Amino acid sequence: MPGVMAPGLVPPRPPVPPPVPPRGAPPEAESGVGGLSGVERDRILAKAALFSPPSGVLADGRRELVGLSREELAAALAEVGEKPFRAKQLWHWIYHQGVTDFARMSTVARPLQEKLAERFVIGRPEAAVVQTSEDQTRKWLFRFRDGQEAETVYIPDRVQDRGAVCLSSQVGCTLSCRFCHTGTQRLTRNLGPAEIVGQFMAARDSYAEWPSPKGDTPRLLSTIVLMGMGEPLYNYANVAQAMRIVMDGEGIGLSRRRITLSTSGVVPMMDRAGEELGVNLAVSLHAVTDELRDEIVPLNRKYPIAELIAACRRYPAASNARRITFEYVMLRGVNDSEAEARELVRLIAGIPAKVNLIPFNPWPNSAYEPSTRAQLDRFSRIVMDAGFASPVRTPRGQDILAACGQLRTESRRG
Ligand code: SAH
Ligand code: SF4
Repeated sequence: MPGVMAPGLVPPRPPVPPPVPPRGAPPEAESGVGGLSGVERDRILAKAALFSPPSGVLADGRRELVGLSREELAAALAEVGEKPFRAKQLWHWIYHQGVTDFARMSTVARPLQEKLAERFVIGRPEAAVVQTSEDQTRKWLFRFRDGQEAETVYIPDRVQDRGAVCLSSQVGCTLSCRFCHTGTQRLTRNLGPAEIVGQFMAARDSYAEWPSPKGDTPRLLSTIVLMGMGEPLYNYANVAQAMRIVMDGEGIGLSRRRITLSTSGVVPMMDRAGEELGVNLAVSLHAVTDELRDEIVPLNRKYPIAELIAACRRYPAASNARRITFEYVMLRGVNDSEAEARELVRLIAGIPAKVNLIPFNPWPNSAYEPSTRAQLDRFSRIVMDAGFASPVRTPRGQDILAACGQLRTESRRG
């Protein structure tokens, strides 16, 4: 995740901001639950389809089974003359047992194993780069079948045997938040369900955590954060399908409470994600005035702070037990004053929330500097005094990791 990455050069001062274009639609057009926001949602989904991943059929004609919904899996098997119960059986082998070889499916007779292997594959993305830090944080650059690459990180808990897997949702990003390295890359394409679930499954392979632990049994890879490359709500259909697979109780069985989706504020899709998936929400706020947020999170020009906060207030899955996380990257002299901390708590008053203060992680030629520790502490104190938990995200994997997106950039240069 961008916040865990490595130290860097001392960057130059922030450049002069670009002119701010007029806002797209008036606030009521987006925030309403009615027609106009539905139109906007359809527009976002249609645009996402233009960046679809390649089909799951390999050059030799075999079809990838990972990433299919249960219904799609049953349909694929029906096409080769197999009954619906086979789908249930295969689901178990693929997502509970984690097998990638049909020959290991002991409940399937040998002739059928062979027939399946002729028609289908159970794949994983290829790990083009794997780095493990001194603090055990592990980062992969995964390469997909068409050669595109995205980053995944596993951040183990420091004390207990559990940890978070940070997944990418897109190759590149259409948005260009000014402090984010991924934001310097254009969007190449969306990742498909197979590639999103595949990142998690390949990370699992790496720790040999199969079969999937059941229910509350401790797991090493215990939570998912959609905080890697890309904006998950601009690839909603694929992300949703991947999360449904991960949450399915007969497979990986990760509860929605253990999944956090981070968005830069795609307001029309936030309601849908809340209703349909019910996962935890993290919102990349980073600024408390539209003037500054327009500059550092340009999506704000479309969905300004008031609309974003309103969408958080109505987010269905938020309760005291499952608070919304406001992410706030601390940029020295840009957004880290005490006055801004006070405005932040005013903005989010009444929302079950916590504020995650992320030390800025510089990358070559980035325009900002991280806040000082003293300033971080002053900011955090104000937020905590207002009753919000305000953890400062500790940088992890400093010896290996670069800001999210850098591994891919380096690989492309190579
Ligand atoms: N597109 C989504 C999710 C991916 S970014 C989003 O923007 O929320 C995940 C988090 O990392 C965001 O809060 C993002 O603002 C933050 N981030 C990006 N670049 C960073 C950097 N260089 N240092 C610290 N945090 C960064
Ligand atoms: Fe980076 Fe997220 Fe902004 Fe995209 S939306 S540029 S991934 S911070």
